[in-house]
Amino acid sequence: MTSFDLAAAKRDILDYCLRSMEYGLNFNTQGNISVRIPGEDDRFLITPTDLEYDKMTPEDIVVVDSESRLIEGPHEPSSEVTVHMAIYRRRPDVNAIVHTEPIYSNVWGVIGEPITGTLVNMVIYSKGDVPIMPFELSNNTAFGDHMCDTMGDLNAVVWANHGLLTVGENLRDAFKTSVAVESAAKVLLHARAVTDKPIVLEYDKLGITSAL
Ligand SMILES: [Zn+2]
Repeated sequence: MTSFDLAAAKRDILDYCLRSMEYGLNFNTQGNISVRIPGEDDRFLITPTDLEYDKMTPEDIVVVDSESRLIEGPHEPSSEVTVHMAIYRRRPDVNAIVHTEPIYSNVWGVIGEPITGTLVNMVIYSKGDVPIMPFELSNNTAFGDHMCDTMGDLNAVVWANHGLLTVGENLRDAFKTSVAVESAAKVLLHARAVTDKPIVLEYDKLGITSAL
């Protein structure tokens, strides 16, 4: 097995942070990204707290353990690090987490209704309707546990009055799910403006697990 390239993984995380701004998923210093370091029992990379993405360098990405302790790096980890660690503990299938604060997903969070399956790829990526977790402050482990209860085995969840979180086997998948959920949230809002009964898809009935 080839050894994990930590520097390349940090560059990758920064690249997706910048993309999250480019795609309109994040504003200011909002959002955070983490990945599980393969081959290490208890090490994760995560974005630092309160640093603008366009000022961030790969060296600013920090290493933490599952107790959310800073192991290596020049900054404190994201204030939502405990939420990420709650997911890694509960979901061994998850190796990457993307938290963003996009407008259309947040609209559904404020309405308090799940983002139902308007677009086929969103349904495949998220593995079903995206549930809404009722508002709680997100800087503690209890939030992470409640969020995992809401998300279950799905790959996406909306935090009401706050943002979107997606998970994946790798960072590329987790990010693609964020983009897919946000575009489906936008379509659903437009559809619901003209009908109470938009045509939606159910994951279990699709009979497919990879994106089209
Ligand atoms: Zn946030």
